[in-house]
Amino acid sequence: MPEAPKDEGAYAHAHDDANTIYSVAEEKNKKFLQFIEEVTANADEVQKRVLAEILSRNAHVECLKRHGLNGQTDRETFKKIMPVTTYEDIQPDVNRIANGDKSQIICSQPISEFLTSSGTSGGERKLMPTTEEELERRSLLYNLLMPVMSQFVPGLERGKGMYFLFIKSEAKTPGGLVARPVLTSYYKSSHFKNRSFDPYMNYTSPNETILCPDSYQSMFSQMLCGLCLNKEVLRVGAVFASGFIRAIRFLEKHWSLLCNDIRTGTLNPQITDPSVREAVMKILKPDPQLAEFIEGECGMESWRGIITRLWPNTKYIDVIVTGTMSQYIPTLDYYSNGLPLVCTMYASSECFFGVNLNPLCKPSEVSYTLIPTLGYFEFLPVDRNNGVTNCISMPKSLNGKEKQELVDLADVKLGQEYELVVTTYAGLYRYRVGDVLRVAGFKNKAPQFNFICRKNVVLSIDSDKTDEVELQNAVKNAVSHLVPFDAQVTDYTSYADTTTIPGHYVLFWELSLNGSTPIPPSVFEDCCLAVEESLNSVYRQGRVSDKSIGPLEIKIVEAGTFDKLMDYALSLGASINQYKTPRCVKFAPIVELLNSRVKASYSSPKCPKWVAGHKQWNINVK
Ligand code: AMP
Repeated sequence: MPEAPKDEGAYAHAHDDANTIYSVAEEKNKKFLQFIEEVTANADEVQKRVLAEILSRNAHVECLKRHGLNGQTDRETFKKIMPVTTYEDIQPDVNRIANGDKSQIICSQPISEFLTSSGTSGGERKLMPTTEEELERRSLLYNLLMPVMSQFVPGLERGKGMYFLFIKSEAKTPGGLVARPVLTSYYKSSHFKNRSFDPYMNYTSPNETILCPDSYQSMFSQMLCGLCLNKEVLRVGAVFASGFIRAIRFLEKHWSLLCNDIRTGTLNPQITDPSVREAVMKILKPDPQLAEFIEGECGMESWRGIITRLWPNTKYIDVIVTGTMSQYIPTLDYYSNGLPLVCTMYASSECFFGVNLNPLCKPSEVSYTLIPTLGYFEFLPVDRNNGVTNCISMPKSLNGKEKQELVDLADVKLGQEYELVVTTYAGLYRYRVGDVLRVAGFKNKAPQFNFICRKNVVLSIDSDKTDEVELQNAVKNAVSHLVPFDAQVTDYTSYADTTTIPGHYVLFWELSLNGSTPIPPSVFEDCCLAVEESLNSVYRQGRVSDKSIGPLEIKIVEAGTFDKLMDYALSLGASINQYKTPRCVKFAPIVELLNSRVKASYSSPKCPKWVAGHKQWNINVK
């Protein structure tokens, strides 16, 4: 199997002369590009060996023995014997590990921590097992990004990246394992914190500002450093588009305070974290001219192109705008005057998957090449038109015929859509990730995939993923507030409104009113809150802790609106027999139609409840 190049700290000496640093960088880039060539040229062989390696290392783990794999490591036996799984299938094993069982249940290596996925089960984040070694695989994927990018945008080693990166709260399982999001785990790891000097990982944000648990202090200090170093910035970004827009919104609110600090070279007392203060003070120097310049730009009425105005050497914005994040493209275009939007990678808590080898392409054309060394990948063909991905409940486990349909990485067909199924070094076997991908082309023998959607998800603003069932239950819980007024919701739909910052969920409700008492606004506000209280913990965390989602809004529409919606769908060719009210709308004319018939609108008066951790543990704690 082609060996992944090691990041051997080739630039341990930041004080080396610039030319030495650049030529080392070039050499290193070549090695990583060569690696991509090799693994994609031998995609099938690499996959075969990855599976054999996973199965032979884990031959004695309980989960494989339970299914009777008996140490066999070939693909055919594996596919015949091992079932395709969902989170519900693996949950009993996950719970045992979370409760402290250290026996080899799913993996021969110790489970070092859980990664908390933004996908949920029963309203709670899913817990994905991981090992120390997986961190190296994740680092490998990060190491591939800049060599790829440098082929298209030269000179990036000569400046800095202004990336807004954050950690989130973490919890401990009853057995003592840490549970936290994958990026928090990565930023806190020595792979990130103690990375050797690398001109391609030269960020304006000092580590201390990224690792600061207070989100205001973290954002403020990262923005301050980014502004101080504005001329050196060659690229800007965040993980998802929503996060980058939040940073711009923060600047809109706080530029005056930021400019005061830049003018005087002193850090305001709101920043109390000593390590953040120390790190920022190494960058912050009194610069009245810069402060005046920023004030001038931010004080203008229009913020069009603010990114290119404040960071004039920026060549692109590095954010994920594929999947539901595509809703933010117009806002990013506005703030950046149409700078290229670059989606570099595709990854999840379960496994890191792949890179975009053509990063300057249009967002709608982005495709990710899966790196065959990261895990063993299989693909379940889906046909969205026959309702498989849109139906409310997915089949829990696959029958024999469907199981046979799973194809290997090297066997997928151009243009076909598939659900991704992964087997990882950390003990997931044939696990359905829940993402739908379409084959867009090939790099050597490795397919490249467009990200199509997350199965079932109807609403998403940030990392929240709300499915139709959750929405339905939430609405059901909320309408109980209308019962005393003899009112009912006759039909509803929803919309992710990203014109506000942060974006928020909107529900359109049509009511049938039988009672004579008018319904006071406070009752509808209670309905808004009841919906929010019923949504999953990722949504509530976004509302309460990250403030990445705004208050949910209920818009009451005139009687007959949903009939109009149906008429409109029929006029576009929908079949009257099969017509069902869509539980989420995105198409602009439909949103306009609904908005034109709004009689009243109400918003959540306060945040729903959210506590860090896991409901199950919180109950146990009592
Ligand atoms: P999490 O496990 O919480 O890290 O979420 C991972 C999920 O985020 C993936 O399964 C995808 O649904 C989504 N995701 C990650 N990377 C991308 C990408 N580049 N484009 C679209 N969606 C993505």
